[in-house]
Amino acid sequence: MTKKFEPLDSGSVPRFAGLPTFMRLPVAEPSEVDIAILGVPFDLGTTNRAGTRHGPRELRNQSSLMRRVHHVTGLSPYDRARVADCGDVVIDPFDLMRSLDIIAAHYAGVREAGALPLTGGGDHLITLPILRGLAKDGPVGLIQFDAHSDTYDSFFNDSRYNHGTPFRRAIEEGLVDPKRFVQIGLRGAISDAGNYDYARGMGVRIIFIEELVARGVEDVMAEARAIVGNKPTYVTFDIDGIDPSQAPGTGTPEIGGFSTREAQQMVRLLDGLDIIGADLVEVAPPFDPSGLTALTGATIMFELLCVLAGVVERKGKR
Ligand code: MN
Ligand code: MN
Repeated sequence: MTKKFEPLDSGSVPRFAGLPTFMRLPVAEPSEVDIAILGVPFDLGTTNRAGTRHGPRELRNQSSLMRRVHHVTGLSPYDRARVADCGDVVIDPFDLMRSLDIIAAHYAGVREAGALPLTGGGDHLITLPILRGLAKDGPVGLIQFDAHSDTYDSFFNDSRYNHGTPFRRAIEEGLVDPKRFVQIGLRGAISDAGNYDYARGMGVRIIFIEELVARGVEDVMAEARAIVGNKPTYVTFDIDGIDPSQAPGTGTPEIGGFSTREAQQMVRLLDGLDIIGADLVEVAPPFDPSGLTALTGATIMFELLCVLAGVVERKGKR
């Protein structure tokens, strides 16, 4: 029997029933699909409040509220691409460095299988090993939605691998081209006035929340698109970019963020770019008793999925 790469039909299986896979999709191997949705249950990189190891499971749970067809485009990602839940990357909860190697090897396998990965995290450190697995043909462009730059050098006892450092490491390792790197939504007090110097010095375009509010999402996204151009680009969405009134369940909330509606508009404006993968990180269910943050995260993942489906459609389905 051929596998049907469709969400469970809510007309025959109600949304509160069935296995809670991402978007109620079947489970499959990356080699069977165009877009592999994966979970990385990991919080060994958190500098303060942990909990994102529980992110993928709650994102899956809340994703049962997603429906098939995008209301703006009228298109279903499941008509445009084969999509499945490809399971979790099983990390070692007692060994950070080993876990990074496990994640990198897993995403190298996804890339070799020919699938575009869409990931639910996990703290933001996971994006570093994901990029190690994907950026095999040279540095990629990066669009980061976040309250934080995540380009610090180290924390505590010179620890260089945590969720405040992934993009500094990614630049150093030649995974990301800093001249094709845009950060959107940054804000909040910083521990040292020089915290942004490294990123600025490397040519990263930092768009603080004040600039986003002043210019509006369309203008800012037009600039972001021009910066990354038509070359391979990865998209990383830290849920704390959204205002904590709408996404409180995260380890490092910062007030004064963009809204869920602006987030949706910005992700839609990624359509047409050469996106090689995307992630949604930093949902921490222990701080999310209502489930709102996981619902927001799952909805942003659906928006990202629709953009990735457009990439598949242009390049040809499996
Ligand atoms: Mn982040
Ligand atoms: Mn952040």
